[in-house]
Amino acid sequence: MLRRVLSSLCLSAVSVCGFAQTQPLAPHSAYEPPAAKAAASLAASAVGAPADLLTTGEKSQWEKTGTYAEVIAMMQTLEKRSPYVKVMQFGTTAEGRAMYAMVVSSDKAFTPALAAKTDKAIILIQSGIHSGEIEGKDTALMLVRDMVITKHEHQAAWLKKSIFVVVPVFNIDGHESRSPFNRANQNGPDITGTRPNAQLLNLNRDYVKAATPEMRGWLKLYHSWMPDFMFDNHVTDGADYQYDVTWDMAHHGDMGAPTSQWVNDRFIPELNKRMEADGHLVSPYGALRNAGKGRREFFVEVFSPRYSHLYAAALNRPALLVETHSLKSGKTRAWSNYDIMVNSIDVVVEDPQALRTAVRASDKKYAAMAGDRNSEPIYLAGKISDASRPLVYHTLKTAQFPSEITGTMVTRYTAEKDDLETVIHEEIDTTAEAKEPLGFLIPLAWKEIADELALHGVVMEKTTKRLDQEFETWRFTEVKYAAAAFEGGIMVDYVLHPVKERIPVPAGSYWVPLNQQRARLVMALLHPAAPDALVRWGFAASIFQGMGRIGAAEYLTVPIATKMAVDNPKLMVEFQAKVTEDAKFAADPQARIRWWTERSSYQPSATNRYPVLQVWEKNW
Ligand SMILES: [Zn+2]
Repeated sequence: MLRRVLSSLCLSAVSVCGFAQTQPLAPHSAYEPPAAKAAASLAASAVGAPADLLTTGEKSQWEKTGTYAEVIAMMQTLEKRSPYVKVMQFGTTAEGRAMYAMVVSSDKAFTPALAAKTDKAIILIQSGIHSGEIEGKDTALMLVRDMVITKHEHQAAWLKKSIFVVVPVFNIDGHESRSPFNRANQNGPDITGTRPNAQLLNLNRDYVKAATPEMRGWLKLYHSWMPDFMFDNHVTDGADYQYDVTWDMAHHGDMGAPTSQWVNDRFIPELNKRMEADGHLVSPYGALRNAGKGRREFFVEVFSPRYSHLYAAALNRPALLVETHSLKSGKTRAWSNYDIMVNSIDVVVEDPQALRTAVRASDKKYAAMAGDRNSEPIYLAGKISDASRPLVYHTLKTAQFPSEITGTMVTRYTAEKDDLETVIHEEIDTTAEAKEPLGFLIPLAWKEIADELALHGVVMEKTTKRLDQEFETWRFTEVKYAAAAFEGGIMVDYVLHPVKERIPVPAGSYWVPLNQQRARLVMALLHPAAPDALVRWGFAASIFQGMGRIGAAEYLTVPIATKMAVDNPKLMVEFQAKVTEDAKFAADPQARIRWWTERSSYQPSATNRYPVLQVWEKNW
């Protein structure tokens, strides 16, 4: 009866409440790992912890999560009670909230310069970039508590060999925009924050374009500390399966080679082994996909530097993308997140110099390759390989049930294990690569690009005299804008043609030498074949304008086209072919004229030409 009253209320005010749900659905996995019940590491962390340093997650059996005020209060308490903790503001959100990080150092090395003197590993823990995926906030605070307050032997010992920079919540505005409906596919907490920030931008697509104030603050923090290792803590959704945590880390051509070796030889095997010993079931991040003939195969994903962990990889530094599972209970997720951080930190801290040496060797290697035409090309983009190896994938069996909603049978997961014998595609084939030039030259008019590079810590010099000579760059054809907006802009794709043209470059332009620590990042931002090249994100977008119209009507454009056809018979042949092949084009007088004017010399020469110049030998 009550239900009937409610629904009629709703119907009468449908524009206000929709068919308002007062309670969200509480989804849950059909399978929980047996060791999650005890979650021994979480229980151990709480031993001896003062009441005001227990998080809301811990106090509510992970059914609730605290606000950012709790995070600030806890960071301040940690700082007050330990000489080894320093809280600092590193940015301000779009809605004006102060963004805080804390540095944990037993040397009180609270600045990058002091930290460098210790030669310890710098580890960045970042949580809440997607603020609804939030147990990483609590677990990060717990780890600091373990190290400096309860001084649990294992965690406290880390500080002998490492320094931590901790960002408990990155997307703070999203975190404070709390609702029970923000994460439909997540098993608690009861109220969470959102995925995007207040500008509706996804911070984990913003690493390159840095359109948000949050990211601009983060870039400053990251580039001042240049951490040797980083965590980015998330919760993934999608299928149900047995795994409680999945992860991704660059370890192919997408990572500086010496670091990649450390990741492949040392980190990945140790991580998997140790997590399994703690009762976890871990998998690389990816999905089962239909591979034809009803066969399901497992595919990892290819990421690019717009994402946290590939951004760090472009700087030769490993970053672990942690994805606990949205359908597992909040407690399970916290346990998985806590343990994957503990085990990863252990691997780093057991031999921090192995990692630091690899990172430094990578920095040096790619800086030294600048301008060497005989060196190997740098990876810019890739796709998942057809190659595979056998894998037993631990998923769950599904069953069908009839649905009145769809009028069909619908699939749901069951608790029955499905240990599927399949294959994993985990190799990445390179689809775009390029050798490192000596540097790039950014003409003064395109200062917006240089300003962006400065945010990324790139070292540049100003040119002192006007240059007027031939330069290498690219011309774009088949320029295509995406059909829909993406992350606040419209991305552009094109076909590249290397050209050598005489281009004047005014004094005061920007010289970007590749012989620098951030060489691979510069390639990712400036080489136009790179998937996250700034030009694809809308920088210097005016170069794609101005095609077609030359400010004259047919009485002039037709004679211009006729003269071009006479002067250049090859062009006429191409035109005739187009007329023959394309009936729509043939029937459109304006399109036919445009075809010629687009190819005429009456266009600004910079139209459709990449404004950044590639330099192999510096002759000025
Ligand atoms: Zn996420």
